[in-house]
Amino acid sequence: MRKLIDLHLHLDGSVPFTTIKKLMNIHGLPTIDDQILRQKLSVGPDCRDLNEFLEKFAFPVHLMQTAADLQLIVFSLLKNLKKQGLVYVEIRFAPQLHTEQGLTQEEVVRAAIAGLNQFFNWQKDNPTDQPELHANLLLCLMRLKDNYEQNLETVETAKHFLDRGVSGLDLAGAETPAFSISNYASLFSLASRESIPFTIHAGEAMGPESIYQALDLGAKRIGHGIRCVEDKQLVADIIQNRITLECCATSNLNTKAFNQIDHYPVKKLLHQGVNVTLNTDDMTVSNIDLPHEYKLLEDKTGLTSSDEKQLYLNAVNAAFCSEQEKSRLLSLI
Ligand SMILES: [Zn+2]
Repeated sequence: MRKLIDLHLHLDGSVPFTTIKKLMNIHGLPTIDDQILRQKLSVGPDCRDLNEFLEKFAFPVHLMQTAADLQLIVFSLLKNLKKQGLVYVEIRFAPQLHTEQGLTQEEVVRAAIAGLNQFFNWQKDNPTDQPELHANLLLCLMRLKDNYEQNLETVETAKHFLDRGVSGLDLAGAETPAFSISNYASLFSLASRESIPFTIHAGEAMGPESIYQALDLGAKRIGHGIRCVEDKQLVADIIQNRITLECCATSNLNTKAFNQIDHYPVKKLLHQGVNVTLNTDDMTVSNIDLPHEYKLLEDKTGLTSSDEKQLYLNAVNAAFCSEQEKSRLLSLI
């Protein structure tokens, strides 16, 4: 089985379908026909843009408000990822979106870490020939109105759990001029002072200017960043500064950041020397998994096994994990 790494995977967009059904049952919600439930959770080919894509998060987030539910979701997601051949994953989510029923951000993160630990124990008790799957959490700050305090608390929570299940930060949410990346400068400079690694969503709904802003804040990884191809100088800067792009092919088609998969530029950027990686973003919203994304780019853009090896090496280099974990990942190929 192919060994895979996913550095860009949202927990709320990737809750396994069967886990959603289980949680609906636990909470006594009325059963919904599978097909209708899938429409509630996943976008179709007629998805208009990032905003319509983000609407698909409302229902799962509603089911992610207790410690037990969060733990169950992380545990079942990791079991799924192991089946797909993943050997390392960074799972991201915004703790501030899971406090509706009174959990604090710290309790939210503690519950997700309990899910990680439950999986690691399960993995130990159920050994296979496959390499182990290791995982870290990234905490997302959100582009929302009037949530400076909540974002600050997320940075502090990441610091509290750093290297104990959490390995970095992100900035997520609707990419619009109203929520310019520069508005979050003080939070990311605090993260830098506290030595918390971070990535920033940019260059997806908005163009190259958003990537320049993320780089100005010191991001070494860009969530998506695919629209850098619109600016040659930016691509040159990205190569020179060894910035990693976390590309997500189907997600970018869903949100119309790209119109045609045949022109999806992962292979081109890779051959230009950009540190590109291939990831899923939101498995349930896009109705995909990582093996599907590799197959898609093989079929539509001629991605080769040597390209795939380079994508793996890029992911190891960029991962927010220990040197010991990087050595393990390198020893697997
Ligand atoms: Zn994302």
